[in-house]
Amino acid sequence: MTQVFVTRTGAKYHASYECPGILDAEAQHGRSIERWPTPLQNLHQEPCAICWPTTGSWDAWTQLEHRVEQAGGAEFERVFVRQVLRHVRDLRPFDVSVQRDATGISGKRYRLDFAIQGEGNLRVAVEIDGKNKAPGERSPDEVRRALETRRTDLFAAGWRVVNFGNERVANRSAECVVELESELREALRPLPRDSHPEPARAPSAPGATLPTVPESTAAPATAARGRWRLVWVAVVGAAVLIVAVGLWAVFKTDRGQEPQNPSGSECPSSAPVKGNLSGGGDKIFHEPGWTYYDKTTPEECFASVEDAEAAGYRPSAIQ
Ligand SMILES: [Zn+2]
Repeated sequence: MTQVFVTRTGAKYHASYECPGILDAEAQHGRSIERWPTPLQNLHQEPCAICWPTTGSWDAWTQLEHRVEQAGGAEFERVFVRQVLRHVRDLRPFDVSVQRDATGISGKRYRLDFAIQGEGNLRVAVEIDGKNKAPGERSPDEVRRALETRRTDLFAAGWRVVNFGNERVANRSAECVVELESELREALRPLPRDSHPEPARAPSAPGATLPTVPESTAAPATAARGRWRLVWVAVVGAAVLIVAVGLWAVFKTDRGQEPQNPSGSECPSSAPVKGNLSGGGDKIFHEPGWTYYDKTTPEECFASVEDAEAAGYRPSAIQ
């Protein structure tokens, strides 16, 4: 049984008896604060944002399950953490964020049940689907089309979207593990050449590439045919160039602004979002006004939430 510590008045529960948060409060009030161990299961408070993410003794997967609960995730999403995610080979709990927003190439924002972001270009969104939420409102065809539009929009923005049904998650978990492992392997394929993101391809045609200029092999070559071939090569070449420049521009703007260095525990007003690396290796960001914003000493500062997320930070569980 996992035990945590609570104080008499605290709204949070603590992973560690010696939580810096409690010690601070003791120093402020000039007396010791009572705390006692209690089983995790009995609690309805939130985990303390200071000691919970940094302690090594915690099962980070349990922590993730709690994050799902805090974010208002469905019961099947917690089952997904317990029976699928934690069994996926080489997946680390801090690579997973829950109920986060992602922007499609169209600019539309989507709420993802799970977002897996690891090293390099690994970006996988996992959706846990139930039955049609408003039966009778939309036909199965319309639902399927909406899902497909969402999938394509997110894919073009660099997200692979994987869907699992409630029933499969609960009753065929092992199958989901295998499927997710193969998706992650696919997403993790090393990029060719340099570190730039690969131009997004349509999911329906995974093998498709940009048109290439045909090699001029043994052409029967009358002068006229030679000239037409030259014109054609020039047109295709120009098209490839335009597409490449367009993609480059999209990815350039997509990357947003570079993070700025904090001065002490402050971020500049031009980049107010605080990015913090917890002792447990979690990359967490705090927006101004959030509970722990003032107390957080940032590693990096970001102009926007999108920039922080692009750099691999997830929102603090306590806002
Ligand atoms: Zn604490």
